[in-house]
Amino acid sequence: MTDLPMPRLRTPAPTSGALVDTFGRVARDLRVSLTDRCNLRCTYCMPEAGMPWLPKSTLLTDDELVRVIAVFVGLGVDQVRFTGGEPLLRPGLVGIVERVAALSPRPRIALTTTAVGLSRIAPALKAAGVDRVNISLDTIDRDEFRALTRRDRLPAVEDGLSAARDAGLTPVKVNAVAMRGINDRSLPDLLAWCVARGYELRFIEQMPLDADHAWTAEALVSREEILERLGSRFTLTALPASSRGSAPAELFLVDGGPSTVGVIASVSAPFCADCDRVRLTADGQVRNCLFSEVESDLRTPLREGASDAELAAVIRGEMWRKLSGHHIGADDFHQPDRSMSAIGG
Ligand code: SAM
Repeated sequence: MTDLPMPRLRTPAPTSGALVDTFGRVARDLRVSLTDRCNLRCTYCMPEAGMPWLPKSTLLTDDELVRVIAVFVGLGVDQVRFTGGEPLLRPGLVGIVERVAALSPRPRIALTTTAVGLSRIAPALKAAGVDRVNISLDTIDRDEFRALTRRDRLPAVEDGLSAARDAGLTPVKVNAVAMRGINDRSLPDLLAWCVARGYELRFIEQMPLDADHAWTAEALVSREEILERLGSRFTLTALPASSRGSAPAELFLVDGGPSTVGVIASVSAPFCADCDRVRLTADGQVRNCLFSEVESDLRTPLREGASDAELAAVIRGEMWRKLSGHHIGADDFHQPDRSMSAIGG
C-alpha cells in the first residue's frame, strides 16, 4: 500500500456544493467527539493511567459545538454520530442532541457508547432525538471484560444494552474488537449472546490507534480468522455487498437468519474508497481520516468571530487534502499522535 494516489491539490477546494475530496468522495457522516475522557480503559485504545487529558479551556462549549455541527449540516452532512472518549460523560449531552435534532434538514443522530450509565439516560436520549446506538462490547465473559477494559463493569453494560432496546434505540448494534489472547476464543459466545437478545453484532479488526502503540500486524485477529472462529459454531452465509449500503461491514446470515453478523476489515480490506466520514475532535479540530497526521483548527477562528462561510471554508479545505487511503502495514505508516479516544472513534 505504498503507492496510493495522492490528492490532486492543484485546483482549490470548491466553494459550494457537496463536501467533496479530490477523489470524488462526498462526506455525509460526521463523527463528533464530545470528550476525550472515558469510563473504561480498553487496552486497544487507552493507557491504564497517565492519559494527558485535553485542557478544559480547549473543549468546544455546547453552543460552539452546535454551531459547528450546523455548519456541517449546511455542507450536506446528514448523519451525526456522537462519540468520544465516552459521550455519556458529557454533562450537556441531552441538550446538545435536542439542538442538533432541531436543525434543518434534521440529520440522523447516532451514539457510540460503552453503555456504562446508559440505563439511566436511554429514554431521555431517545426523547431528545437519538435514533440509534452502537454499543461497544467485546466479550460477555466477566474476567475477559475486566482484562480488556481494566474495569469490572460488564453488568452495567448489559443493563445499558437492555435499556437501549427498551427505549426504542433500535436496532441496537454491538461493536466488538477481537484481541489476541484475550477474547479471540470467545467470539462465538458473544455472537450467541447477541443473537439470543436481538442485538446486531459487528466485529472490527483492531487498528493501530492505541495510546500504548502496542499494535502489531502479527497479533491482528483478521477478518479471515474471525470468520473461521465463528464458523466453528455457526453457519454463516454471506449477504450480497448491495445489502450493506455505505456501511463498511460485510454481513452474514447466522444459521440461515434472520440474525446477521458483520465483520469490518478496516485493516486487511480497507473501505477507504467508499469513505463518507469526517471527524470533529472535542477540542475543535476537523480530521478527514482516523489516520490523518494533520488536522484543521476550527476552534481558533470560531473564537475569533469567524462567519459560517469562513468555518465552511476551513472544513472544505480539510476534506480537499484527504488521502486516498490509509497506509497501515506499509513502511511509511506512522501512527497518529492522538489515540482513538482523543480522535473520536
Ligand atoms: N467510549 C465509546 C465506546 O467505547 O463505544 C466511544 C468511543 S470508542 C473510541 C469508539 C469505538 O472505537 C469503540 O467501539 C471501540 O471499540 C473502537 N476502538 C477503539 N480503539 C480501537 C482500535 N484500536 N481498533 C479498532 N477499534 C477501536
